[in-house]
Amino acid sequence: MKLLIQNGTVIDPASGVHAVRDVWIDGGRISDPAERADTVIDASGKIVCPGLIDIHMHEDPVDDAGHLEAFDERSVFACMLHMGVTTAVAGNCGENKYHPADYLDLVDRDGAPVNVAMLAGHGWFRHAAGCTDRYAPATPEQRSRMTAGIEEALQRGCLGVSFGIRYEPGMDARELTETAGPCRKQQKLISAHIRDDAAQVFAAAREYLDAGLRLDVPIQISHIGSMAGFGQMEAFLRLVDGYRRDRPDICCDCYPYDAFSTSLGSTTYDEGWLERYGCGYDVLELCMESYAGQPCTEALFRRVRAEHPDCMTVCHVMRQADVDLAYRHEAVMVASDATLDRGQGHPRACGTFPRVLSRYVCGGVLSMDDAIRRMTALPAWQLGLTRKGRLSAGADADVLIFDPERIQDNATFSEPLAPPSGIEWVLIGGKPVLRDGVILDRRAGRSVRG
Ligand SMILES: [Zn+2]
Repeated sequence: MKLLIQNGTVIDPASGVHAVRDVWIDGGRISDPAERADTVIDASGKIVCPGLIDIHMHEDPVDDAGHLEAFDERSVFACMLHMGVTTAVAGNCGENKYHPADYLDLVDRDGAPVNVAMLAGHGWFRHAAGCTDRYAPATPEQRSRMTAGIEEALQRGCLGVSFGIRYEPGMDARELTETAGPCRKQQKLISAHIRDDAAQVFAAAREYLDAGLRLDVPIQISHIGSMAGFGQMEAFLRLVDGYRRDRPDICCDCYPYDAFSTSLGSTTYDEGWLERYGCGYDVLELCMESYAGQPCTEALFRRVRAEHPDCMTVCHVMRQADVDLAYRHEAVMVASDATLDRGQGHPRACGTFPRVLSRYVCGGVLSMDDAIRRMTALPAWQLGLTRKGRLSAGADADVLIFDPERIQDNATFSEPLAPPSGIEWVLIGGKPVLRDGVILDRRAGRSVRG
């Protein structure tokens, strides 16, 4: 079936195109022009760009019967689709919800709302190797079990290894280098939620970047707004630039909000967090329904942390000016860090990409081309994906058509799942899967392996 997208302004940063032209699709790929089309989409006045790539998000869980919990409106992957994302990179911060390569097999068996790529989460393999104390170092046997598991996951198509050094403080540089070793053989990426933030972010970044340089693989630093967004961003980006001088494949990602989100039981909230952020308990929102809207107090924090460590939280502590500064740096990609617990959580899951397009492009901070580059060509390059994030002939026909006049995020902290405005069409593999905000097909996504 041949499909033609007509009259739109095509922005394809990977090939430097910004012009009104037609896009032809045949057999799931971008094709050369043909004589006639079976279907025509009129994109007059709209922007046509590659489907977006979210290089940092967290996948939906798998139920007890072995099915993805990804097919209703509370699914993170459905939120991705609402934002115009067509490839979501899951398994970040060292966390997987399931064996990451088996997860890719499930996606191919059942389909998913978007294409799914996976990182092998170091923390998941650490736990599977029997290292259940996150504050304790792993034994040599545990390290070699982790490394073997990670190597197999990479061979089965995971695009790299993610670390949550913050969440597994018992790990040292040797554990990091050893378990990321398989990436060197296969030239795959490492990404990390580094060990510490705020005033300690510099030492934490050096620890990770020094280890990454020794491995000689592409390096991703996760959600830098929540790492250096407390007055450190300018100096932090200078530090990154120092490392980037010889290594342009050191990149960062950032979500466009001044609040972070993590579970209440995580090490982020270990003793000392109030001093680290210079705040009180009132900055914290507990996302569990029974506590939603209640101001947090010390008593509530201690009780819920003991009883429901999985309770999602939103913590309003970062400086917006630091987050804005991050997006001015050429190596910072837009990524959501989306994570939801049964539809509860942070609006970044359903708002990130439209928010950058409206806030930073309409606000004059980024050009439209540069914003789209940070959502398509740059992550594709960093991940080594040659058929994603571009609209040249032969590329996978994952396409987004949006209205630059109407593009707007609508998700808020009280209504995190409110879908954005202005997303008119999303195509995955040449198939229309969303039109005017309505999902037409929740199973067109497949695994993306490398
Ligand atoms: Zn993280």
